[in-house]
Amino acid sequence: MNRYEITIIGAGVSGIFAAHELAASGKSVIMLDKGKKLNERSDSYIGFGGLGMSEGKYNYTNDFGGELERKTGYDAALQLMDDVDAILCRYGGSEAGMYHTYDPELSAKAQEAGFGVLTTRTRHLGTRLSKAVLQKMYDYLETCMTMKFEAEPERIEKTDNGRFEIELPDGTVIDTNRIIIATGRSGNEWFSRQCDELGIGRGEARVDLGLRVEMRGNQLNSILKNAFETKLSFAGKGYTATTYCMNPRGRVVLKLQEGLAMPDGQNYREKEEGSSNLNFTLFVPNRFPTLEEADAYFRDIVSRINRNRNRIAAQRLGSLRQGMKEETGSEESGSRMRSVLPTLEAEFTDLREEVPERYLEATLAFLEALEKLLGESIDEDTIVYAIDGKLYSPAIETSQEFETKVSGLFVIGDCSGTTHSLSQAAASGVYVGRLLAGHLLAGN
Ligand SMILES: Cc1cc2nc3c(=O)[nH]c(=O)nc-3n(C[C@H](O)[C@H](O)[C@H](O)COP(=O)(O)OP(=O)(O)OC[C@H]3O[C@@H](n4cnc5c(N)ncnc54)[C@H](O)[C@@H]3O)c2cc1C
Repeated sequence: MNRYEITIIGAGVSGIFAAHELAASGKSVIMLDKGKKLNERSDSYIGFGGLGMSEGKYNYTNDFGGELERKTGYDAALQLMDDVDAILCRYGGSEAGMYHTYDPELSAKAQEAGFGVLTTRTRHLGTRLSKAVLQKMYDYLETCMTMKFEAEPERIEKTDNGRFEIELPDGTVIDTNRIIIATGRSGNEWFSRQCDELGIGRGEARVDLGLRVEMRGNQLNSILKNAFETKLSFAGKGYTATTYCMNPRGRVVLKLQEGLAMPDGQNYREKEEGSSNLNFTLFVPNRFPTLEEADAYFRDIVSRINRNRNRIAAQRLGSLRQGMKEETGSEESGSRMRSVLPTLEAEFTDLREEVPERYLEATLAFLEALEKLLGESIDEDTIVYAIDGKLYSPAIETSQEFETKVSGLFVIGDCSGTTHSLSQAAASGVYVGRLLAGHLLAGN
């Protein structure tokens, strides 16, 4: 039998930052992941680093990205995120500069035009630097604890002595005082099973869907004078839509998630040259009683657009506004020179035939309000791609310290339903890692 004081399940962002806090505590720790080590990974979701290998955009804010502040308090949440940033910088993250999106002049003007402005300080590592930082963290953690990969637990059981037994696929049984589950969204099915078996209830599930807009890069110049990007929220009838992942000079790229294809945004620094466009998604949230219902809604809409071949549908704003049918095909043959050229190959079509009205309405109303804010029309060549999605894990009931009703079992990061971002997931790891580093009683 392998005995450890703490077992972390999931070596994604939250798990790694919890491990980092525990590393110097002298506690015996094992970290398990169902994927592979960083340098052997081929999957972009699972393995050491989890989704931290993606765009690596760390937004340090309570305005969006989760509700960590509800557990820790407002100032403590910001402090934890500062601590995350200091750790990233210790492992080379400072190579990417920090910027902030707070602009009082823009906030005042935007509010007049009917927008809310969400602000943040941001360190955008990008994929290459994220990987380098994670590799250095791996090298350090390897010297302080055991890490086991391709090790998705088959059974977790609370034993009569108040400890836990965890059985791995290779037959190894781990005996542990405390468990931190940090399996993110990619562990959802597995985590649902554990919740059922351990008697932990799961709450409402959320899925955001929205169209990705690619517009002329200079159209937002008047509002991006003092900030690299901005995040606007807009309240319409029965929804509040929010911009997500704004990429000045960036590209729209294909995102493959759970077998579905969606248009995603890529930072300009990922390619040698930026584009002359700017893109963002306008997300509209939807809430469902269960995760299964949220998943079914998401799959139904995205897979109908994909048509079993990673198809992305798109339409020019001009024809969408006029309710005209778009000339179909991946190339808009014979068309005049367009002022916005697509950076992602897409099939031009009539989006009204493919996308629920809710998302078209929200996008058109948002762009109309944006025109008021800019004091100019949005170019009718602007491209609207269908459809981007963001899946959330259902909230589960935990204490202020992220402990479930099963004593000794903690749940952090996105699978807790409390965080939805790199910075807040990492900060929840720092928070719980610190608690367990200091609060475990010897022999308990
Ligand atoms: C395409 C994409 C891009 C994103 N970009 C950004 C961004 O730029 N900025 C931002 O703030 N947020 C971004 N997000 C959200 C962000 O990535 C997540 O909020 C964050 O990674 C959550 O961290 P986590 O530790 O909870 O989960 P993850 O980082 O997903 O890690 C979960 C880990 O658990 C492991 N695991 C899963 N199931 C099991 C199991 N049963 N047993 C053992 N191990 C398991 C996985 O292999 C993985 O390593 C993005 C999300 C997506 C999908």
